Amino acid sequence: MGKIEPQPGIMDIALYQGGASHVPGLSEVIKLSSNENPFGPSPKAIEAVRAAAGSMHRYPSTDHAALRAAIGEVHGLDPERIICGVGSDEIIHFLCQSYAGPGDEVIYTEHGFSMYKISARAAGATPVVAPEHDRRVDVAAVLAACTARTRLVFITNPGNPTSTMLSADELGQLADGVPETALLVIDSAYAEFAAGYDGGAALATARDNVVMLRTFSKAYGLGGMRVGWGYSQRGIIDVLNRIRGPFNLSLPALKAAEAAVHDRAFVDSYIAENARLRVWLADRLADLGVPSDPAQANFILARFADAAEAEACDAFLQSRGLIVRRVNGYNLPAALRITIGDEAACRKVAEAVAAFKGADR
Ligand code: PMP
Repeated sequence: MGKIEPQPGIMDIALYQGGASHVPGLSEVIKLSSNENPFGPSPKAIEAVRAAAGSMHRYPSTDHAALRAAIGEVHGLDPERIICGVGSDEIIHFLCQSYAGPGDEVIYTEHGFSMYKISARAAGATPVVAPEHDRRVDVAAVLAACTARTRLVFITNPGNPTSTMLSADELGQLADGVPETALLVIDSAYAEFAAGYDGGAALATARDNVVMLRTFSKAYGLGGMRVGWGYSQRGIIDVLNRIRGPFNLSLPALKAAEAAVHDRAFVDSYIAENARLRVWLADRLADLGVPSDPAQANFILARFADAAEAEACDAFLQSRGLIVRRVNGYNLPAALRITIGDEAACRKVAEAVAAFKGADR
């Protein structure tokens, strides 16, 4: 019998650490660990899924034409330049599978989203980390990390878990500066929460070497449906479509996303509430000696004195049924990432941190 081994690099992949959703012994918790929409999905998306239920014996669309048209209409983009995936995670995977292989390098930044490294390794490529500066992407450091073997440069903007972001000018500098043989991928999963930010759409429209990634998991409240999309020049979208499974998006997922993208009132009211509450919570925590950088997404990165204090506060919050996210894996051991929940949840977090800071420990 031969020895069956996975491809080189696969066993170097650390399993993705998702946000917890339970606390042993507690029946009621508030989950603030995965940057989900605390107000749920649009009622129109729920209705669309119900309406689709009777057709579940049929295969869904293979080309996602209706969803791409809806996205194109709302964002003012050419639907032919859009690809839809099972979350933006799947498009990250398509990019690595199509453009990076053994001997190639995939750059991401020190606190960048963890899937880039997983997908790069899965493709047999070498992940390369560029340092950040004060929890912000450092354009010069990213460009300095580029070599003739660089194929993909992933920038999370706004950053996860930092919630900081680069300006349109800085993104332009990256697009200008990456090697000719590399693509700049602007992962704008949280774009909707950053006032005045187009997600990199204008840059990806103007440049042939830019890909923008978006998702329905955050502002649209469809994390459970798994719908994301990418936007780039037609040639790149054509390449990615060649490795895409023909029925990657399920019928309910497609219908939910089509309804959600048209429900502007629902998304806009969540964005406004998030903007209000993230300032409120950041101010309360800062008053308690827990600072965070000005946040641009639907979470804040709360900084503690050291890793021990962050760990102790995490445990204290959990004992009160508040589940937030440790971000050790992102080289931020002294911080906790806290999703902005509804007003009651934010008040509970502020009260709990106050009790933790005041407690005799
Ligand atoms: N990019 C970033 C920066 C994220 O935070 C996430 C979700 N955690 C994703 C991509 C993937 O999102 P999804 O696959 O749900 O679209």
